[in-house]
Amino acid sequence: MSLLVVGSVAFDALESPYGKVDRTIGGAATYFAVAASFFAPVNLVAIVGQDFTAEDRKIFKGRHIDIEGLECAEGKCFFWAGRYSENLNERVTLTTELNVFADFKPKLPEKYRSSKYVFLANIAPDLQRDVLKQVKGKPKLAALDTMNYWIERTPAELRETLKHVDILMINDSETRQLSNEHNLLRAAKHIFKMGPKTLVVKRGEYGAMLVDSKGVFCVPAFPLEEPHDPTGAGDSFAGGFMGYLAGAGNVNDATLRRAMVYGSVLGSFTVEKFGLDRLRTLKRSEIHARARHFAKLTQFKL
Ligand code: AMP
Repeated sequence: MSLLVVGSVAFDALESPYGKVDRTIGGAATYFAVAASFFAPVNLVAIVGQDFTAEDRKIFKGRHIDIEGLECAEGKCFFWAGRYSENLNERVTLTTELNVFADFKPKLPEKYRSSKYVFLANIAPDLQRDVLKQVKGKPKLAALDTMNYWIERTPAELRETLKHVDILMINDSETRQLSNEHNLLRAAKHIFKMGPKTLVVKRGEYGAMLVDSKGVFCVPAFPLEEPHDPTGAGDSFAGGFMGYLAGAGNVNDATLRRAMVYGSVLGSFTVEKFGLDRLRTLKRSEIHARARHFAKLTQFKL
């Protein structure tokens, strides 16, 4: 089943202890779409500026990604710059320039409106809601990601949008910030009252945790000797997770657990190289091999 995503398509400047790039394609929706397209066809809703060239568009070519919903406007692409700490666990945002996103009014192509799986990637919460409203009927699954930038600047809009989604998928510090709870299980209870009935907490090198009414399920992060750049790991996780579910066409305890593993698999590939470099060459066979490796990593007898 096809999967709709709205979010940023951007240029990023990245600095980590392993190197520096001044300008590379990024954006939450870009990582998400590329990761998800290994499992299900993706419909992309975003906006780029005139600085996004035909060469840049090639990132979506040859994959199951429909870009009819990728608008091109006068002006420049969203731009983000970030720097990572020595252990890659912390990052500071150096610059966020909304550029063409500042005046974006998303309009879904007719064929996107029947999407059953919807992912509202990290972007202004009112834009996320606007997209969700244009989807016909109630999607089978709607999930949302956000970040401190929106939690701090647009809390009321975010609260309103959260009422309409099934899954909130954010990192641990954002979970704590949004709920005002340090403990993640208590934070989950708090978040359930805001609307979503499932919380997926992305915990970087500590893996990810899903909390819902049935309980808790955890996956580790894949142990890597030389991670290079964590940018987009969260969005790739979300792409693997939602892509797997849309491909399976069924949301239940078993598919949600496998989706957590495929999320972690996609996130682990992204951090191996800078920006989208690792996802560009990734093969389906490598994804499945790593998923099998995850099964071995976590198997034990009692
Ligand atoms: P992640 O590392 O998964 O948090 O995602 C990083 C991507 O998010 C980068 O490629 C950025 O272009 C994009 N990004 C950073 N800040 C924002 C923001 N405020 N809104 C939307 N996208 C953002």
